[in-house]
Amino acid sequence: MNPTPSPTYRPTWCEIDLGAIEHNIGQVKSLVAPAVKLYICLKADANGCGAIQVARTAERAGVDGLAFGNVDAALECRRAGVSLPILLYPNCLPEAAPVLEANGMAASLSTAEDVDAWGAHARSCLQVFLKLDSGGLRAGALPSQAVEVAAAIARHPRLVLAGVYGHSLATYGKTVEGAVEHQVSNFQKIVTRIEQAGIAIPMRMFSSSELILSHPSADFDAVDPGRLITGVEFPSIEPRRRTWRPAFVGLKSRLVMKKSLADVEPHGSAPPFELRPNMTIGLIPFGWSEGYPRQIGSDATVLINGRRVPVLAPIHSELMRVDLTDAPEASVGDEVVLLGRSGAAEVTVEELARQWGTSSFGLFTRIGRSVTRRYV
Ligand SMILES: *Cc1c(COP(=O)(O)O)cnc(C)c1O
Repeated sequence: MNPTPSPTYRPTWCEIDLGAIEHNIGQVKSLVAPAVKLYICLKADANGCGAIQVARTAERAGVDGLAFGNVDAALECRRAGVSLPILLYPNCLPEAAPVLEANGMAASLSTAEDVDAWGAHARSCLQVFLKLDSGGLRAGALPSQAVEVAAAIARHPRLVLAGVYGHSLATYGKTVEGAVEHQVSNFQKIVTRIEQAGIAIPMRMFSSSELILSHPSADFDAVDPGRLITGVEFPSIEPRRRTWRPAFVGLKSRLVMKKSLADVEPHGSAPPFELRPNMTIGLIPFGWSEGYPRQIGSDATVLINGRRVPVLAPIHSELMRVDLTDAPEASVGDEVVLLGRSGAAEVTVEELARQWGTSSFGLFTRIGRSVTRRYV
């Protein structure tokens, strides 16, 4: 079932705290009423934490379902033995219907054309969610069409309506005053219209991370947080204040080479960086192809033996240099901390995000999947 992973020899890895995932799931459960179902959104490989490991943890922690933005990632999770119900956000063609049916996955439908096409490919009984467009003008039925699409699903002999869901635009930081309230009441209105048309809705879902903490009135029958589960923080109203633990706790490597440039001779071309007197450099097997920024500022540092060591530009695709001139004790094999603690020093998520010119969320999703995830 679980083949032993091949040993890896390149010493560059991330550290993921699955205890934090479990803690954060418990916190969400403590916020919503016991009847409210909890779907965990595992987009972007669970924000870089590893979808399969996070799914297994979520299953043990008693969540009700998973949501994926990539059908192949969802299938990988199934093959790894995760048996929870799976909701797929729109991402594949109707030809995939039999695969979804065979693997207990529900598709997201938005239009009357979707209903025809998915219905035509379904074998016997395909679970589908009707997605509503909350103003993002992305996937989802527009308010004027929602009842008609719901009715088409309900009529179809091989489609089963598993639920209706929406997603707030607040998560994109473009919110104007009152926009979320408007989206929530619109969702409620459309759901009511569908029910008034005689169509039963088994599950109504709207809130993800941000709204769970700010709009308790939008809990409905289920919520589907993603980032919050991996410990990304959002503003919260008082009764929904809790502690959240980051799951992504380390990004580390080891020095694979140390070299003195004290007697470097002119090569006929300019050196790639400014040489210092008696300079010593070290090499780290990590680079821009796996997420490190190609352009760095003067604040780019790593920790070695509790000491801050400057990173030297240019960064290479799978390799980078550090300046060890002021860290003479550093030697090959020493741990290099890009994120996390080293002795008394620490690089926090916020600091690394600043160094990389991104958000904490953007940080974890850009670290390549080729970097080993170690679960601590
Ligand atoms: C991404 C996504 C989520 C999860 O959003 P978070 O802000 O990470 O909680 C939930 N629902 C839908 C439809 C999404 O696309």
